[in-house]
Amino acid sequence: MTEPTRTPAQQAEIDVIDFCRDLIRIDTSNWGDGKSNGELEAAEYCAEIMRQAGLEPAIYESAPGRASVVARMKGSNPEAGALVVHGHLDVVPAQADEWQVDPFAAEIKDGLIWGRGAVDMKDMDAMILASMLQMAREGHTPERDLIFAFFADEEDGSTYGADWMVDNHPEVFAGATEAVSEVGGFSVDIAGTRAYLIQTGEKGIHWTKMTARGTAGHGSAVQHDNPVVTLAEAVTAIGNYKWPIEYTKTTRALFEQLSDITGIPFDEENPQELLDAMGSTAKFIAATLQNTSNPTLLEAGFKHNVVPGEASALVDSRTLPEQDEKVAAKLKELAGEKVDFELKKHGVSLELPFSGAIVEQMVDSLLQEDPEAKVLPYMLGGGTDNKQLSRLGIAGYGFAPLQLPADLDFTGMFHGVDERVPLESLKFGVRVLHRFLAAQ
Ligand SMILES: [Zn+2]
Repeated sequence: MTEPTRTPAQQAEIDVIDFCRDLIRIDTSNWGDGKSNGELEAAEYCAEIMRQAGLEPAIYESAPGRASVVARMKGSNPEAGALVVHGHLDVVPAQADEWQVDPFAAEIKDGLIWGRGAVDMKDMDAMILASMLQMAREGHTPERDLIFAFFADEEDGSTYGADWMVDNHPEVFAGATEAVSEVGGFSVDIAGTRAYLIQTGEKGIHWTKMTARGTAGHGSAVQHDNPVVTLAEAVTAIGNYKWPIEYTKTTRALFEQLSDITGIPFDEENPQELLDAMGSTAKFIAATLQNTSNPTLLEAGFKHNVVPGEASALVDSRTLPEQDEKVAAKLKELAGEKVDFELKKHGVSLELPFSGAIVEQMVDSLLQEDPEAKVLPYMLGGGTDNKQLSRLGIAGYGFAPLQLPADLDFTGMFHGVDERVPLESLKFGVRVLHRFLAAQ
């Protein structure tokens, strides 16, 4: 029996599902602090497909097993700035007993692929590989260079992945001006209208450790300088503080368009009604309307009858663009004079205009597949490897296109239990991503 001949486009819709399942089955769990299964096997898997596409991939190991892989598809115009199309290979760990399925088996159930990484982000990794291969099979040469990159360690601050690559191998990204990657391009249901959210901004990361110092002593004594109490007051003040709602260019544009779609007036002081119209995505978007600061870890004391000399807490703050200093000052003010702050981690905030050629190409490629839909900008409350690439002057967007069923809580599945992605969404995604890449 002979295989039916498929067009490259038909083959890509099959490939994307195979690639996604294969990648999920390579357990790349990242526990943090350098503890990880490693990404080497996944990098080798991607490298093999890159070779099938006629590219020459290079694997970079920042530490044993911690691998990223990059290959460049040469464009016809060496003057044109290159586009980085990137994903990460690692996933957050999964607690198998909480899941309905084996998180690393990539089972297909009810028309969805289930498994860790199905949405974050082996889905997009597979879409990138399948559309890259489709372009090669079609003999399509883009105008500008396309740099395909799959990074290690995104889920733990990118120390062994994009951060390391930018520091140690910036030559890999030579000539690159723009990038696309995860957490954007997916559809949400807004009062019966399907809208795609393209990520044009990311909040900053401002992680601090605060320490209260006092007088150590006996637990039976009268104590007026107990650092546990000082710290508890600071934690309470920061945890209870209500940051004001503030709009950036991105979130203002989003809410104006939400208002147009729903007919609900845009009340700047109280956007709750518009947020509610976004259903399960509301919580995700709410975090982008203000700074946030959440105490996440407490450390104090060692014995029941000893007052310790110091007590400390970790605070996870996420900042709106250009507000790092303002947030740091507010935290100090809330915590009081007896508490010192130490900055443990900083990640730059990003914000790009929702305009220009690359945005038009993203919008067009979505609308060609889904003409009735709306395409809106949004800001991500978390961070992606676009933060790292921005250090090379590369403007990064979140564009991993997926058409999703209206009732699927997509944003809730990132790092969640029973992570899963519909097969039809992946097929849609590879069609859109291929259109977008072919337009480069
Ligand atoms: Zn991710």
